Amino acid sequence: MAIPELFKARKPVISFEFFPPKTDAGYRALFETIEELKPLSPGYVSITMGAGGSTREKTVDLTIEITKKLGLTAMAHLPCTGFRPHEIGSILDQLYAGGVHDVLALRGDPPKDDPSFTIPNDGFQYANQLVEYIADRGQFSIGAACCPEVHPQAPDAATDLANLKRKVDAGVDFLISQLFLDNAKFFDFVERARAAGITVPIVPGIMPIATVSGIRRMAGMNGTSFPAELAQELDRVDGDDEATYALGVRWATMQCRELLDRGVPGIHFYTLNRSPASREIHRNLFGG
Ligand SMILES: Cc1cc2nc3c(=O)[nH]c(=O)nc-3n(C[C@H](O)[C@H](O)[C@H](O)COP(=O)(O)OP(=O)(O)OC[C@H]3O[C@@H](n4cnc5c(N)ncnc54)[C@H](O)[C@@H]3O)c2cc1C
Repeated sequence: MAIPELFKARKPVISFEFFPPKTDAGYRALFETIEELKPLSPGYVSITMGAGGSTREKTVDLTIEITKKLGLTAMAHLPCTGFRPHEIGSILDQLYAGGVHDVLALRGDPPKDDPSFTIPNDGFQYANQLVEYIADRGQFSIGAACCPEVHPQAPDAATDLANLKRKVDAGVDFLISQLFLDNAKFFDFVERARAAGITVPIVPGIMPIATVSGIRRMAGMNGTSFPAELAQELDRVDGDDEATYALGVRWATMQCRELLDRGVPGIHFYTLNRSPASREIHRNLFGG
């Protein structure tokens, strides 16, 4: 079932995000993770594509493989700035021929390890242009990203929201949020988005904290704020893996419980290719 149909048919739609591994061992581990998460009946899973489109082939192949071999709805992430339009066209052709009908249309960020990276002359600068291009083909459902705490490059919240509205109006079917740790930021954002006339489902993206350094780095990159209570707890567990894991599960469970109580259409888990935290949070929320 195409993802927009899922949002009409069930609530909440639970989804899991994975990245293409670098090694064979990583692939084996990822497929074990997916097998472990499959009994939770996710609405869909999604596969990231590295900055600048660096994992193009792996992302396309893995998304098709999950669709065909595991029978799950799988969505490919497609960051556009590293590609020329005809390359995007051929990626979409490959996905469509492989039975993948859902795409997360993204701008992407320049690869950190490639200072010479430039956007091709005829390339897309922003995700709204990619959305328009994909929508013109009429073959795919289109998801896109949103930032409850404002995209770090946006001059202000109002401009960021106007840009988001333009992107949604170009043909977005649903939005998935950047990670956030303070639900108040998400609720406030959804209210502003609705007031601006954005009506598509807005799905919160939840990242269970795996390591203290990791969450601080991700939060720093994305402008994610830490509630005072969480900041203190992170100081307390820093260096203790078990305590960090337990805090990550507890915090994400608390976030999800409140989000679900307030009627979100789904939860998108940034799994980092691991299943235990997502499974434990799922069990806390839904039993089983
Ligand atoms: C759920 C999710 C999954 C992701 N997966 C990946 C992935 O697989 N690979 C990857 O590389 N990255 C991924 N990202 C990261 C994403 O690419 C970055 O957050 C990126 O910085 C912004 O992408 P975007 O699609 O939101 O960009 P855009 O919507 O283009 O916005 C980027 C910035 O430009 C501004 N802007 C937008 N349109 C215009 C316009 N027309 N004119 C002027 N300014 C404009 C916005 O206000 C914002 O500041 C993901 C993010 C999320 C939330």
